[in-house]
Parts: sequence; C-alpha cells; structure tokens
Amino acid sequence: MYFEFTEEQLMIQEAAREFAQTELKPGVIERDEHQKFPAEQIKKLGELGFLGMMVPEAHGGSGMDTISYVLAMEELSKIDASASVVVSVNNSLVCFGLEKYGTEAQKQKYLVPLAKGEKIGAFCLSEPEAGSDATSQRTIAIDMGDHYLLNGVKNWITNGSSASTYIVMAQTDAAKRHNGINALIVERGMPGFTVGAKENKLGIRGSDTHSLMFTDVKVPKENRIGEEGFGFKFAMSTLDGGRIGIASQALGIASGAYELALQYSKERKAFGKTIADLQATQFKLADMATEIEAARLLCLKAAWLKDKGLPYAQASSMAKLFASEVAMRVTIEAVQIHGGYGFVKEYHVERLMRDAKITQIYEGTSEIQRIVISREVLK
Ligand SMILES: Cc1cc2nc3c(=O)[nH]c(=O)nc-3n(C[C@H](O)[C@H](O)[C@H](O)COP(=O)(O)OP(=O)(O)OC[C@H]3O[C@@H](n4cnc5c(N)ncnc54)[C@H](O)[C@@H]3O)c2cc1C
Repeated sequence: MYFEFTEEQLMIQEAAREFAQTELKPGVIERDEHQKFPAEQIKKLGELGFLGMMVPEAHGGSGMDTISYVLAMEELSKIDASASVVVSVNNSLVCFGLEKYGTEAQKQKYLVPLAKGEKIGAFCLSEPEAGSDATSQRTIAIDMGDHYLLNGVKNWITNGSSASTYIVMAQTDAAKRHNGINALIVERGMPGFTVGAKENKLGIRGSDTHSLMFTDVKVPKENRIGEEGFGFKFAMSTLDGGRIGIASQALGIASGAYELALQYSKERKAFGKTIADLQATQFKLADMATEIEAARLLCLKAAWLKDKGLPYAQASSMAKLFASEVAMRVTIEAVQIHGGYGFVKEYHVERLMRDAKITQIYEGTSEIQRIVISREVLK
C-alpha cells in the first residue's frame, strides 16, 4: 500500500488550488450574499476540463481518475462550495451516468457537450413528497409508443435554471413500484417544461436550486437511459459515485475552514500571546486536523475502489457520512477560534459553516447513509 499521488494527480490538485485562489476567491462573499450563480467561473472550469473529469477523451472528457476528482473537489470546495457542487453534479450524477449507461447516440448528443463544459447538467430525483424515500415518485412518464408523456414536479434541483440537460426519474408502471421507474433525458426548452423560482437558502447560496414543472412534456423514447424500468437502479448507482463528490466537497469545506483557523490562531493575540499558544486552541486544532485526515482517507479509499472497478457503495456512503459530519464539527470550531470575527462574512468561516450543513442532507441524508452502511455490514 502506497500513500502517494502520481505526478498527474498532483498537477490536477495544484491546478484546482490555483483556480480556487485566483478565480473563485475574489467575489465569493458577494456571490453568497446575492445568491449569484458563478457562471463565468463554471465556464472557465469547463474549459479547463473540470466538468467532465472522468469521461474518456473520446467523449469530450479529460480521462482522469476518481482520485484526481477527489483532490480537485477538495481544493475547489475550500473556497467556494457553490461552485464545487456544480462540478460534483455535472461530473458524478450526470456525466458518469451517461458514460456508464447511455447509448452511443445519447453520448454523442448529450454527454460530449456536458463533458466539455459547453453545457451543464442536472439530476432530478427529489420531489415534494419523495426525498429520502425516492421510490415514491409521483412524476409520471406515460408510455405513448414512440415517446413518453411526462407530468409532475421535481424540487431542490441543483443547476435548476443553469442546466440545459436534465436527467429526470419518473414512474411509468406504478404496479412495478421502483422497477417501473424510468430515467429520461429532458432538454431545456422542450414544450411543457418550466423552471420554478430559485430557493433562498442557508448555504451554497450561489448554487441555483429550483423546482421543475413538467406538463405533458413529450420525451422521445430514445432519450430513456437503459432498459424500461431501469431508472431507479440508474439513480442509485449514480448516487453511489455522487457521494464521493459530496464527501470530497465536505472534506474541502472542513479543510478550508481549518486552514483559516490555523492561520488566524497564529495571528490573534490574547493575554499577551497568540491564541495558538493556548492549549485549548491547540487541542481544537489537533482534533480538526485528525478528523480531516480521516475523512480524506475515506474519500480516497472510495475513489480508489471505484478506479479499480471494485464495489464502492459502502465506502462512498462511509466517506460521505463521516466527511459531512466532520465538515459540520470543524467549521463550528473554526468560527469559535475566530471569536467575534468568525461571525462576520469577511473572515469566510461563517459561510463555510453554513455551506457544511447541506453535505449532511443532499445525495442522501446522514440517516440514509447509516441505512446503506448498516445494510452492507449486516449482509
Ligand atoms: C440545496 C439542495 C440541493 C439539492 N439538489 C438536489 C438535486 O440536484 N437533485 C435531487 O434529486 N435532489 C436534490 N436535493 C434533494 C435532497 O437530496 C433531499 O432534500 C434529501 O434527499 C432529503 O429529502 P427530504 O428533503 O425530502 O427529507 P425527508 O426525506 O423528508 O427527511 C426528513 C428527515 O427524516 C429523516 N428520515 C427520512 N427517512 C428516514 C429513515 N428511513 N430512517 C431514518 N431517518 C429518516 C431524514 O434523514 C431527515 O432527517 C437537494 C436538496 C437541497 C436542500
């Protein structure tokens, strides 16, 4: 076992770090405050190959491995989790699913522009009454022969208004329950498809989260991913990989807050010495560093298993569960180390604390991760 990165992996990490510092950091506070989608920055990330990282070059991607993806996600998330969630959703939930399960025609038409970053994708599973219980889909796709007639509502959709390509899960045969669900590729602009208002959120405020409404949308049969009734399995398989992205996002939020707290502790003076000289601060920093390292290793282990073609569902759930809880604990401590300054926007840690919370909720809450893990360990 070697705890070493390849030269290529280190180059990608460095490129992501550089991008985060020079392109994401300026304006991150304003984007958060005004809920502004980082459109320019996402365009540049696409040009640099960060939106189709694991897609083969033949399909417009960068042909990188999942380890590189974890490294890039950590660096981007240290600075701007609203931008990194776009990277995570586009890479893991949209491109990965299309590459693994799409037809060659679907890949040419939809995957290539998504992997090149010319277009952005969205993954639409959640509904007002189907969150953790994703089997109870109310959105319906009636089989009309050469097309499906799509009706229903999705909510909480990341990239809701900025995407062009949406993968929508919908129930076709309710009698078959989750085996009657289909995954359909829906294009922005298809008649009957409308985007609802933007959610006003606690964290990742720059990310555009919307409800989507479908009224008699005609989706051609060739836009179905996989066999009839494969949609739920498609969604679950895609989320296994997605959780590596969100775990790495949580890791980046934690390590970003930790780095700021470490730096601040060496500068801030109280009682004639720096607060880093106080054992109370030292112990906090020691716990933060230890937990972050453990979270990083879990993320890398899940990525390594995926790259090796080995089962990684349990590992990705463990990584997401642990890293997201570390993100919450570490960001709260980072605010504490900053004292009153931690409570204001200029010092960044309050935003990271707000951003951390979502990592315990989306792509399966911490409770759902515990269900996935306990099912595996009790097998
Ligand atoms: C900002 C944001 C972005 C999102 N982006 C997307 C997206 O792009 N695409 C998408 O499809 N969805 C997205 N989601 C939806 C997200 O995945 C769901 O919010 C999440 O899965 C939880 O579903 P819910 O909100 O309906 O909560 P519920 O399922 O109602 O859960 C409420 C509480 O009950 C707990 N609970 C539920 N069932 C169980 C159980 N069996 N055992 C123990 N506890 C349980 C949950 O853990 C939670 O604490 C996003 C959500 C947000 C807030």
